[in-house]
Amino acid sequence: MKIRDFFCSQTELIFVYMKTNWATAFKPLLAKYKGKLHPLEYKNVYQLLVMVILSAQDSDKNINRIAPALFEAFPDMKSLAKTDAEGLYPFISKVRGFAKKAKWLMEMARTIKTDKNIPLSMEELTQLPGIGRKSANVIMREAKVKAEGIIVDLHVVRVAPRLGIASGTDPKKIEKQMMDMLPEKDWGEAGMALSFLGREICRPTDPKHDACVMKKVCAFNKERE
Ligand code: SF4
Repeated sequence: MKIRDFFCSQTELIFVYMKTNWATAFKPLLAKYKGKLHPLEYKNVYQLLVMVILSAQDSDKNINRIAPALFEAFPDMKSLAKTDAEGLYPFISKVRGFAKKAKWLMEMARTIKTDKNIPLSMEELTQLPGIGRKSANVIMREAKVKAEGIIVDLHVVRVAPRLGIASGTDPKKIEKQMMDMLPEKDWGEAGMALSFLGREICRPTDPKHDACVMKKVCAFNKERE
């Protein structure tokens, strides 16, 4: 890309970012994915917490596959707190980074002790091992507590800059930009809806622009037309 073209496209992106009323622009996206279940097939908040930790850098599909046997052996936080690495490994050895994740799970279980102590605020969740802002946002959305941020997973990192609501590749900065543009009442659903769009429509290669509910406001699509 020529330097002039680069600066033009950056300026256009900044213009789209400033000009678009994102609260209105997100309405069709939020409507499309309203009520859609999270791909992790958890049955309670304890299972959700464990599965979110295990799913980092692995697929939800793989975690769903190992979950039934894991939760049969460790049905709650109390049972998880009593185990050691050797007890856990046979159930999670097919998960990427399982040794490190086993340590996180055991440390978390020993800290929380019982299911009723599971914290549901951003501050408390992000103090647990293996839980960053993205995971905390997912847990809070699924637990239906008031959102304190927006889920920014690898799909959102790809789609948000394409749309023009954010720029860069740093999830924290993307989350902050989106929080500035969207009303707080939509934070809980906005990230997950964008993630679903990224999984289904706005794929890394060959995004299906014509089937996309965001095509009228999308900077990437406008540039291509
Ligand atoms: S219009 Fe295209 S690039 Fe933009 S969000 Fe939709 S699929 Fe992605």
